[in-house]
Amino acid sequence: MTTPELSTSSLDEIRSEQLRRLRSGLRQVLASNRFWRQRLHEVRGWDDFERLPLTTKAELIEDQRQHPPFGTNLTYPLERYVRLHQTSGSSGDRPLRWLDDPGSWTWWTRIWADHVYRAAGVGAADRVFLAFSFGPFIGFWSAFSGAQELGAMVISGGSMSTEQRVRAIAELGATVLCSTPTYALRLAEVATQLEVELGSLRTSIHAGEPGASIPSTREAIERSLGVQCFDHTGMTELGPTGHSCSQRDGVHLIESEFIFEVSTDGRTAHLADEGMEGELVATNLGRWGSPLVRYRTGDRVRVSRRPCSCGSPFLKLPGGLQGRVDDMVTVRGVNLFPSQVEEIVRRHPEVGEFVLEHRRVRHLDEVTLVVECPDGAGSVLERLGAELRLALGARIECRQVAPGTLPRSELKSSRLRRILEET
Ligand SMILES: [Zn+2]
Repeated sequence: MTTPELSTSSLDEIRSEQLRRLRSGLRQVLASNRFWRQRLHEVRGWDDFERLPLTTKAELIEDQRQHPPFGTNLTYPLERYVRLHQTSGSSGDRPLRWLDDPGSWTWWTRIWADHVYRAAGVGAADRVFLAFSFGPFIGFWSAFSGAQELGAMVISGGSMSTEQRVRAIAELGATVLCSTPTYALRLAEVATQLEVELGSLRTSIHAGEPGASIPSTREAIERSLGVQCFDHTGMTELGPTGHSCSQRDGVHLIESEFIFEVSTDGRTAHLADEGMEGELVATNLGRWGSPLVRYRTGDRVRVSRRPCSCGSPFLKLPGGLQGRVDDMVTVRGVNLFPSQVEEIVRRHPEVGEFVLEHRRVRHLDEVTLVVECPDGAGSVLERLGAELRLALGARIECRQVAPGTLPRSELKSSRLRRILEET
């Protein structure tokens, strides 16, 4: 089978439109935004762009610490901003606050409506249930506004127990569920215990963890909820960056609204080579009130420029985000991401939740997989160990804990527990 030729004309069009929007946006940013005036210069062409420094989350946090409460990444006077959101701080950092003006918020909402929901086939006739707490994290609110923009009926599941959410989905006839992948499995578990049918659901959209692009997790969600399941990637400080398409085997990055680059071994490349791997770097092209230029996302990706049968001209991440760059562990020279282990664990329906424990023992990395499974399922541990060794080339010890003992969160689950043990 031969690979169809790349459509260079559409790539050229994407690139010239990116440059046009960047130049026009940066003009106002450089006139009034203190944060960027210190770092950026005018961009006339791609050469200028590639000389701009990369930006890190640590720099943004430090800026807000020195200039509380909002920092200096503000293009407009404060009275023009209408929304404040913040990161969860789950990685141990101080939460990062982010302001949006009406134009930036319209940009977020439009990307949800035109790209994320549209790719999942969601429309005005749908009833979208959002199984989230509705705290200050931006994902809930942008998903809500995007569904409203589409003309769909939007239902907030904030301040509800899992049981109340299951009953609300059934009673209100929700057709679309937005949640983390882990929480979708939790909803299915509770619906089964309560003997509540969730037959109205037909689509689910997931973010926060790579699960919806991991084949075995996607199948588990689709089987237990009777839905077609889609992935979505995004960040509070950056915007909604990607979504899975009709092929549902990875994530397209929305190149009409962002410039994406891949950084590896100190080199950052814009039009990444086929199969290139590294950290995703992104520049947004519509959030000019508090923009980000060449931002290191901390997400590890592998990119593909092969044409996708869905017809999208955009870059694709086969299998979605591989994981956080910080979540990679190296066992006997083999690099491992929790998402690779998840793909194998979820093939076993008798396993509930899982977590990877990482220890350093006498300067050697040891990884133990802790899985929830019922007593008498001991053979699962042996099969898991053998499958992990075969697929990943690393020996990982497996340990059983009782069902229901590992945490289940409606926010993103951390599947890597680092245990410091210096001996
Ligand atoms: Zn596609």
